[in-house]
Amino acid sequence: MPTPTASPYGRNRSLSPGARNRPSLPALARAHPDLGTPDGPYGEAMLLWGAVLGRPAPPATDRDNRLDPAFVEWLMGLPPGWVDGLPRRARLRVLGNGVVPRQATTALGLLLTRARTRPTPNRPDHPDHEHPPPRTITPTTDGSEHHMSTGRPRLLTQNSRMRAQGHWNWTLPAWAGRLPDGRTYNTCPSAGVCAQLCYARAGMYRVPAVLAAHERNLAFVLDDPGGFETAMTRELALPRFVDAHVRVHDAGDFFDRRYLSMWLRIMRATPDTHFYAYTKEIELFNELVVPNPPPNFDWVFSKGGIHDEMITKNTPHADVFPDEQALHEAGYTPLNGSDLVAVSGVVRVGLEASRIPHLRKIQGRESFGSLQRAAQDRAHRRRARTQTAMRETPGGGPRPGRRPDDA
Ligand code: SF4
Repeated sequence: MPTPTASPYGRNRSLSPGARNRPSLPALARAHPDLGTPDGPYGEAMLLWGAVLGRPAPPATDRDNRLDPAFVEWLMGLPPGWVDGLPRRARLRVLGNGVVPRQATTALGLLLTRARTRPTPNRPDHPDHEHPPPRTITPTTDGSEHHMSTGRPRLLTQNSRMRAQGHWNWTLPAWAGRLPDGRTYNTCPSAGVCAQLCYARAGMYRVPAVLAAHERNLAFVLDDPGGFETAMTRELALPRFVDAHVRVHDAGDFFDRRYLSMWLRIMRATPDTHFYAYTKEIELFNELVVPNPPPNFDWVFSKGGIHDEMITKNTPHADVFPDEQALHEAGYTPLNGSDLVAVSGVVRVGLEASRIPHLRKIQGRESFGSLQRAAQDRAHRRRARTQTAMRETPGGGPRPGRRPDDA
């Protein structure tokens, strides 16, 4: 994008090659008031940037069809209102003379990495090294933090809905995939039909930059579990997380015993923060969490997984319905916009399915729970048919000395 300028030049005045043939940012905004929307000339990039920032673009122009400084703030990844209090021209001038915090952070991270890879006494493998390099979280100008030892951005994020509620989120990629280094993963080992209907395997979650960020989270957990636990615990020690709610996963699940145990330790180490989660890892939870849960953790089992049969009629659980009418008809309580209803102990909580058309088509008028039940019934019938066929096939029956159910 062109550099923002206070004067309404028609052409880009940058010294970069070919700049004179490109419009300036004020001219671009005037010609395309939909500049920040998915329908504008940079629609895909704007969508992506909005996902990275967790908030959509404000209008590109003001009432007089002039470039709006609020749009420039968004474009640069600055917090809304960063240059409020100045006249419009001055706001644009300081923005144009400012830096994009994420670019500056990346540059600093690269320089630090380069400095660390030089053979100096600060390197742990240098013979004169005495102390481990510090692990710190350093605030940046956009209000986010970067872990200076890893160059990683903060671990907990917010979209606009969560920001309005004061909630934060930690997430992984949904279900199965392959990391850039070739390793395969499955973050939802107990997923059943939900994997075919999963909102987190479609739409914004498949935007390459978004998926890459989630896969980086997973790689951090897998490659450096101790570092992840330390970084997460330190981040949660920031004042903004006192009394805040953190949703553990809006995609992915507690995929194994070690990862779940790590989260339980993090929760116990940060008692001033409330945690909540939807999960299909019912077996693991019954073993590791239910007998002695951290007091600041609420969870709800959700239907559509291979352990649905373990959800009794009195177990608080959530199910996903095609619409609000369907969930009322089934006797479920709607969320009414707050995840906290789901973890409040209400026995039957109903969620509305995502609005992604092809997923809605697959789901039809069923809930995740009823589809999972039907899938399990089909599987039982298939197994029964196979066993019958084996018994009736000469030489295919059970071996002498074994009862048919010993398999
Ligand atoms: S468990 Fe959740 S994130 Fe995983 S596949 Fe099912 S719906 Fe998607």
